[in-house]
Amino acid sequence: MSDTVSENTSKKTKRGRKEANVWDHFNKEPVGDGHYSASCSYCTEKWNRGRPEDLKAHLALFCNSISQDIKIEYLEILATENSVKKMKKKIVLEN
Ligand SMILES: [Zn+2]
Repeated sequence: MSDTVSENTSKKTKRGRKEANVWDHFNKEPVGDGHYSASCSYCTEKWNRGRPEDLKAHLALFCNSISQDIKIEYLEILATENSVKKMKKKIVLEN
């Protein structure tokens, strides 16, 4: 049972890799003001104003109805974004 993940896991691909679109996993409805309501495609969770960071957190941490693959993908995205934020903070503090 070895599904070889034939994905070149070269960790240097910072750019050129298509960014996962969090909205792929949600139904999006305009609510005006340039905002969108969101409802999860996998469970019954809804947001009056879907913010990408909330939606990513939902996929990574809270949604119980998605596949493990998606969950892991978004856990990694969250981890990356958090470390980027920390780095930025650090740079600001050091200035
Ligand atoms: Zn969900």
